[in-house]
Amino acid sequence: MERISPCRLFEQNPGRFQLNRRVILGKIADMRITIIGLGLIGGSLGLALKRSGITDLKIIGVPRREETIQQAINIGAIDEGTTDHIKGSADADIVFICTPINLILPVISEIGPTLKKGAIVTDVGSSKYEIVSQAEKATPKGIYFVGGHPMAGKETVKLEAAEADLFKDKKWILTKTSKTSIRAIEQLENLVRTTGATPQIMDPKTHDLAVAAISHMPLAVAAALVNTIADEPEKELMGRIASSGFRDTTRIASGDPILGVDMFKTNQKAVLKMIKAFKQSLSRLEGLIKNGDGEAMNEELEKAKNFRDAIFR
Ligand code: NAP
Repeated sequence: MERISPCRLFEQNPGRFQLNRRVILGKIADMRITIIGLGLIGGSLGLALKRSGITDLKIIGVPRREETIQQAINIGAIDEGTTDHIKGSADADIVFICTPINLILPVISEIGPTLKKGAIVTDVGSSKYEIVSQAEKATPKGIYFVGGHPMAGKETVKLEAAEADLFKDKKWILTKTSKTSIRAIEQLENLVRTTGATPQIMDPKTHDLAVAAISHMPLAVAAALVNTIADEPEKELMGRIASSGFRDTTRIASGDPILGVDMFKTNQKAVLKMIKAFKQSLSRLEGLIKNGDGEAMNEELEKAKNFRDAIFR
């Protein structure tokens, strides 16, 4: 792959970066990035960063298992690796924690004291308020934590499923609070852009409610929908004739249950709020079906069609 200097990269495609030459030219080049957790998200991040053409970018991978190190080097996701969280992050400028959610805070507590001054720590966990508020307390002075969540993924997880284009044209949420360092968030914005994603800044609570609405509650609904059929005496027949409509509606129910449990547990309040709203919406439709009110049913379906078409136009 042709190595492009940061100056050329910036000149060729300035729109890909925010117009902040000092950060781009002075910081993104010659940087050590550690990725802890080399699964779907961590592996895809490594692949995307390695492909970005940024010069002198060293990527250190920290998986759980020794054999994953060579696997990640072979596919070009990292330059080197170790299974030791502390060793792998001690010299890092930026650390991405890409483990399951329940490990994010323990990893921060473990590596925090030995990180170098000025290091930035971020995560990719799909809920933010709990992680960000605890992480801000746990981060030692001189280390900067910014919560993150790439709005990208798929049902298959682990390193084998990683792809360099996973974040392309997707949003990557970075959270901002009164404690967030502007330098840290700007630097992450620029780095996230090199993966093809568009950074979007918001506060952790706003993130959690929005993500409960468009990701966590839909997972609960998809799982409940599939289980409704699974509990029917005629489930074999129903499954045999199920086609693309049922498949599309329930796709996310095939995701890793462990990640789903993490979402529900760490975003409980917002998920319950959105499930309540969903039940009200379903009851409204149920009432219209019961009454046989075709015009009102049409209005309800039209409203859904218009909003969905506007989102995915
Ligand atoms: P994944 O493919 O299962 O990756 C998680 C990785 O963490 C696995 O490779 C696992 O190792 C590794 N790991 C577990 N314990 C570890 C430890 N102690 N030290 C280092 N690595 C460890 O799952 P993922 O989809 O990438 O999810 C990772 C994070 O991304 C989660 O926090 C999730 O909320 C977030 N996220 C996921 C999606 C999605 O659609 N999947 C989207 C956005 C954000 P093994 O391979 O040995 O199990």
